[in-house]
Amino acid sequence: MTSHLIINAPIVDGAHSERSAPMQVLVENGIIIDVDKSISSSKAEVIDAGGRTLMPGLIDCHVHVIACLADLGRNAMLPDSLVTARASRIMRGMLMRGFTTVRDVGGADFGLKIAMDEGLIEGPRLVISGKALSQTGGHCDFRGRFDDSPARSNGHRLGSLGRLCDGDAEVRRAVREEIKAGADFIKVMANGGCASPTDPIHFLGFSKSELMAIVEEAANAGTYVAAHVYTDAAIRRAVDCGIRSLEHCNLIGEETALRAVEAGCIAVPTLVTYDKLSSEGLQLGFPADSVAKVENVRIAGMESLEIMRRVGLPMAYGSDLLGDMHKHQSDEFVIRGQVLPAQDVIASATSVGARLLGAESRIGSVSPGFEADLILVDGNPLDDLRLLSGQGQHMPLIMQQGRIVKHCALN
Ligand code: ZN
Ligand code: ZN
Repeated sequence: MTSHLIINAPIVDGAHSERSAPMQVLVENGIIIDVDKSISSSKAEVIDAGGRTLMPGLIDCHVHVIACLADLGRNAMLPDSLVTARASRIMRGMLMRGFTTVRDVGGADFGLKIAMDEGLIEGPRLVISGKALSQTGGHCDFRGRFDDSPARSNGHRLGSLGRLCDGDAEVRRAVREEIKAGADFIKVMANGGCASPTDPIHFLGFSKSELMAIVEEAANAGTYVAAHVYTDAAIRRAVDCGIRSLEHCNLIGEETALRAVEAGCIAVPTLVTYDKLSSEGLQLGFPADSVAKVENVRIAGMESLEIMRRVGLPMAYGSDLLGDMHKHQSDEFVIRGQVLPAQDVIASATSVGARLLGAESRIGSVSPGFEADLILVDGNPLDDLRLLSGQGQHMPLIMQQGRIVKHCALN
């Protein structure tokens, strides 16, 4: 039995606006057993945090671990073996930034989860949607205007974010197949997008009856639907169709945001990806047409945070980065911190993320009975969110389910 006693550690978890007094945390067999001012344990290995901040492991609710290229059309053509190897590197990078859980919203398959369980890949706990559902000509149709090859030609590949389906019967089959293959929830492209070639931002993805069929099938399997949505009209339609997780939301209006609150939705803004796509996208192979599409949603994004905060729509942390831009995953903390209180930004990556995953009694808090996903941070992130950014250089200790995955000398 492995057992650790972390001492001299004030806690920040997003639930309070101040750091706690220095606490002691006892971890046994991957679970937090006790959190108190003073704990005695004869067998635990003691880790003296030296007054550093102890936080729950971070949760990113919008990633694509298989997106090793910014050009998603080309990514879908890569051999599965290469995508697996590159995904393992991307996932390790996430863990080393303090993300102990991520929700993959398009691409990752159940095999990656098995590889993690077997210790073949070191990375965050994966919660997956399997392939995202897109209509023909929608956000996962990368065939280009004059390519009329069969729609399902590469939807089965690991490097493909999504699959195409049209009509009630096909969308129901697609949901059932993804659930059968191990999806934890369902992702649907309910709006045009930036990365795809033939769907402007204003396009609505799927008919209402298709969206409701998708939501019904997900509910039959005991889970929920996440939708890629930018425009106010697309978000409102998604809410009305019973979709729970609203990705991006850059162009949301106040009335729709209120409706989303009443429906119990959670938004997942992903502002860092527009920032990086506009500054680095072109040189990293993101198509020029797509870079142009990014500008509108990028500028509206900051305003959307204020609107959602004003009406009380909960926001989970999302990054949505592709290819070599993954290294900017933690910059979302700093971007949101320009508009939102640091406590709220931290909560997005702890308690709110956990709630979206339906795991609020297991992760996202430093509390007895929770998984021992823990990070130590130099300084106080409530005062400076930049301490959470970069490649984990301000995190001398990262623990996942009680296992130390990073431990620098603490002095
Ligand atoms: Zn999206
Ligand atoms: Zn995405």
